[in-house]
This record gives sequence, structure tokens and C-alpha cells, in this order.
Amino acid sequence: MYEVYNGMENNIIIGDKLQKTRELFDLGDKQKQIPVVKNRDYEIKIDNLGMNGEGVGRIDGYTIFVSGALPGETVRIKVVKVERNYGFGKQLEVLIPSKDRVKPKCRFSGRCGGCQLQHMSYGLQLDFKKQMVKDALERIGGIDDPVIYDTIGMEDPWGYRNKMQFPVGLQKDKLAIGFYAPRSHNIIDIDSCHIQHEINDQIVQIVRNYTDNSGVVPYDELTHRGFIRHVVSKTGFQSGEVMVVIVTNGTNLPHKKELIEALRKGVPGIVSIVQNINPKKTNTVLGNKNIVLWGKDHIIDFIGDIKFKISPLSFYQVNPIQTAVLYNKAVEFAGLTGEEVVIDAYCGIGTISLFMAKRARKVYGIETIPQAVEDARINALENNISNVEFIAGEAETVVPDMIGRGLQIDVAVVDPPRKGCDSKLLDALVKAKPKRIVYVSCNPATLARDLKYLSEKAYKVVEVQPVDMFPQTSHTESIILLQK
Ligand code: SAH
Repeated sequence: MYEVYNGMENNIIIGDKLQKTRELFDLGDKQKQIPVVKNRDYEIKIDNLGMNGEGVGRIDGYTIFVSGALPGETVRIKVVKVERNYGFGKQLEVLIPSKDRVKPKCRFSGRCGGCQLQHMSYGLQLDFKKQMVKDALERIGGIDDPVIYDTIGMEDPWGYRNKMQFPVGLQKDKLAIGFYAPRSHNIIDIDSCHIQHEINDQIVQIVRNYTDNSGVVPYDELTHRGFIRHVVSKTGFQSGEVMVVIVTNGTNLPHKKELIEALRKGVPGIVSIVQNINPKKTNTVLGNKNIVLWGKDHIIDFIGDIKFKISPLSFYQVNPIQTAVLYNKAVEFAGLTGEEVVIDAYCGIGTISLFMAKRARKVYGIETIPQAVEDARINALENNISNVEFIAGEAETVVPDMIGRGLQIDVAVVDPPRKGCDSKLLDALVKAKPKRIVYVSCNPATLARDLKYLSEKAYKVVEVQPVDMFPQTSHTESIILLQK
């Protein structure tokens, strides 16, 4: 089994031959000349995978990352970047392929920054994700040999995304709508994306025709000029309802009627067309203001038998099939009997809260985006669930406050964004002493940091379940049970 390369470890074998170079690189306490030269070709054997699923090999002890290469392979590369302790190679040819190499389904694979793992068999993708979580827990979290199960994958790991978010811009004076290229903001013009719901190809085509014919200028990030910035869509996999959001750098949308008509005619299931205004010079996709151009201001979808209202700005898991798997695991890990008081921190539109509420005495959901909290309250009402309360605010402020006022909790669920939990929240949980903490994480590094903190404060990591929410990409999701 390969390992996931981690810069902190240096099991480096010193090779025999050196090529001339001026720089030195570290080998623990030794220093050595960098054995490769930029823009030259080399043959390299790949031993491991890096954090983004890229191949990692060594030339005379010097580490090189090669996107698209797999462990066990020998590939020919051109060295494209040379840093002090590692370099980057562009794969030119696979000389000895791995048995896990598969032909990517998408013709943009490798050029598009959306998927990193299409060249990897799905089995290896699942192993890789498990290994990423395990390595992070061991190396960053200091948790020896955690009980970690095999990643739960999808039967059909394609067409799973219910949300599309494509930037609109110009590439060499031509309209481009698609994903960004890896590590850049150059837009790859994509006519068909295999990880999205198939309806999205059609939506993109309609917006492409509209932009081409209406004289609307695509947005340019550098100059902050141009009008149409992003096209976003949300699809309810169970309900069939579709929302299209056009993000603009200003208010007046020309030829509105034609756009609405084309979307209504060409997109089965469409129930909502929204213009989102984002006049800021920012990487954040959506602005705060929404104008409903046609239909409703939300869509409805179901996870299991619970119905959810989804607005343009609220967070909703992108893979509905695996979300059900993840939430059922969360309920299982919470060990609910019907008697518990549960906190669901970072609750979004109340999805996990409502799943838990059916099996607990009382659930408190805490979320910072007011519109999401509003949706969460409506979701509770719509599903006739009355033993839940949603509180708007930052978890790190609200939860310590609730605990300070004497709230007793049995189970805490946390599902933070990539940066993980604020330590003030973790401190409050430690003080409140719930019997179980269920941690849902999309970032193994911050997860491991937070688990280390909790395990130093009387909590033990009992079990870890990675769930593949993002097939074909290097993103991981896992759910962890901690007990007092
Ligand atoms: N549990 C939900 C949402 C998880 S995403 C689900 O499965 O659908 C993380 C959520 O945390 C987002 O809705 C985000 O708006 C919210 N959030 C981010 N920072 C927060 C903070 N400091 N306090 C509370 N919520 C926060």
C-alpha cells in the first residue's frame, strides 16, 4: 500500500548521481544539491500519492509531484517548477502503467481543475481517501492506529452533483463557461460535465447562447468590468425541481425576458430563476441580494423522508445520495434512544438536526447565515418536527453562552466548514461533557487538529467512517465518533 505523502516526513533514500545545479535542498540535517533542472525531461518512479491525489516520486532523494501519475508507475516528465525541498513535473508519457489506471470519462480531464482523480480506478480513489484521513489522524492528530473503516463509495460515481457553479468569462476574447483550470482562474469552456446532474449541460448551453446573443459582457476578474459573473444551478434529485441563479455585477439584466423564456422552455423541472447581485471585487461567488426573475425563490428536495427548502444562499450537501448515507451514520454514531438533548453546531438549513430530532428529545441547531436559519425553521414546520430550535449566530459564541446558562447536553454534532471548529466551541463542549461527540468533516487536516485537542481533554476517538461525497475529486469527507 502506498502512503499519502506528507511534507513533514522525510524517508528519503539518497541516490548516487547528481546533476549540476546551484541550489541545495534539505535532507533532515544534511543538505544536498537539487538533482533536477527546470524544463528538462526525466524518468521517475511514482511511490505515493499527495494530498490532492497527485503522484509523488523521488529523483536522487528530491521529491517531485506529478499530477495524473499513480503509485507503482514509471512516467516521463518535464520538470516545470523547482522549489527548495520539492519540485513539480508535467507528465509527458506513462512508461509503465498501474493496473489502477483507467481512461478518464471526460475529455477535459487533466486540464480542468474540477476532477483530479478520473484516471484512477474508483477502488483506488476510495482507498486513497481512507488513507488520507488515517494519515492525518496519525500524523497531525497523534492518534495511534485509529479504528477506521473502508470508505463508503457510490454504486455509480457519476452525475452525482446537485449544484453547479460555473464562472462566466472571456478566454482569448471567446466566451467561456466552465470550471477553472488547476491552480488558476483561467476558465475552461465546458459543454458537458460528467459529475453534475445532466440537466446542467443544458442550462450552460442556454446561458451561453443568451450571453452570445444579448450583447451582455462576461465578467473580467482582473479589471472588475463586465456583467455576467457566474451561472449557478441547484437540482432536487428527488423532487425534480431546478433553480437557476445568474450572478451579475450590477442590477440591470438586459434581455431578461428572452433568458427567462429560453430557460423555461429548455430546462425540464425549472421552478425558480433568480438574479443574484454581486458587485464586489471578491472570489466569493454569490452576493447578498437576490431578485426572483421568475417562479419561486427556492426549491424543495428530500433526504430520506424529510423535506427541505433550499434557497440560493443556503448550504446544502452537493451529493444527495451520499448525504443520506452520511446522516444515517451520524444518527447511528449519536446512539440516540429518544431521551437525548443534542446540539448540532454548523447546522446549515437544519438537515442533520431534523434527522436527529426524530430520535432525540430536543435538538438545538446553530448556524451563522440568517437565511439558512430561517430555512431551517421552515423545514422543521413543514416536516411537523417541533422538538428542535434553531439559533442564528456563530457556534463559538452561541454554544458557550448556552452551556454557561446551564444547558445540559448528551450529544454534540459538529459539521464545520474547511477551517474546522473554533477552539472556543471545543472548550465549551469539553465543559458541557456530552457523552458523545459526532464530528463530520470535509478537511482531514483541521479534523485531526481538533481531534487532538479533544483527545487531550478526556475524549477518545472510537471510530472513523470516511464517506465518498465527491467521487472523481480529491475531496474527502469523514464522520467520527468520540466518547467521553
Ligand atoms: N450540517 C449542514 C451544514 C454543513 S456546512 C449540512 O450537512 O448540510 C457548514 C455550515 O456552517 C454552513 O452552513 C456555514 O454557513 C456554517 N458556518 C460557518 N461558520 C460558522 C460559525 N462560526 N458558526 C456557525 N455556523 C457556521
